Amino acid sequence: MEAFICTTCGTQYAPADRPPPACRICADSRQYVPAGGQHWTTLGELRHSHQNYYRRLAPGLYAIATQPKAGIGQRALLLRTPGGNVLWDCISVLDDATRDIIDAFGGLAAIAISHPHYYTTMVEWAHAFDCPVWLHEDDRAWVMRPDPLLRFWSGDTTPLEDIPGKPSLVRLGGHFEGGTVLHWPDGADGRGALLSGDILQVTPGRSHVSFMWSYPNYLPLPASTVRRMEARLRPFGFDAVYGAFWDAEITEGGRTAVDASFRRYLSLLERGTLE
Ligand SMILES: [Zn+2]
Repeated sequence: MEAFICTTCGTQYAPADRPPPACRICADSRQYVPAGGQHWTTLGELRHSHQNYYRRLAPGLYAIATQPKAGIGQRALLLRTPGGNVLWDCISVLDDATRDIIDAFGGLAAIAISHPHYYTTMVEWAHAFDCPVWLHEDDRAWVMRPDPLLRFWSGDTTPLEDIPGKPSLVRLGGHFEGGTVLHWPDGADGRGALLSGDILQVTPGRSHVSFMWSYPNYLPLPASTVRRMEARLRPFGFDAVYGAFWDAEITEGGRTAVDASFRRYLSLLERGTLE
């Protein structure tokens, strides 16, 4: 039995004698099956061909990503809080160095993931660090490897229990019905940080965010959905925004940038102009 991993999205499936006939994540219209067809790998193979690398983004906040690129190519973020470490989003490659480094930091108290494209090998990480994985209930159907350590939450916000400093999860929806961001009031030197996955996608100029139903297939979201996302995020203050990809961050003025981004997206959809 082997827990096969889709090479395109990095999702690991429940152990089986052979790979599934297709990847359900990639067959969805938000993702894609490459023109060259479906391919599979395993965590053992990835540990030989890939390795993780790290960057400190701010005090208590680290990025972990994989080289060469594996799957979608997102990074995971590691938050250090007085109540324990939290892994935000996940990547397929969990190598020995990463285990040792996180163990030296004191392990993980929780993992939380923005949406199904980043579920990857979450069950491997949960078992390695013996911690729960917080997922939004509305995306439960996209879990390809069920496990007792997966903790489903519902509604639009929840604190990460047992973690002082009170990081909380906020369901914005949009890209996925359960699309979630993490609000960390103590982050960015106490100015407040929003860890946005690609529910809010930081743009290349690092001045705005954007919102899509499908990024690879260039399918936008309707104005009504973007308005709902804006309303759900409105109560939360933050100065920095950290996105899913390397360098995708707005290090100050993030709340203002996000507000302006909602305004210009809605203006373009509803009035055909950015202003
Ligand atoms: Zn896939």
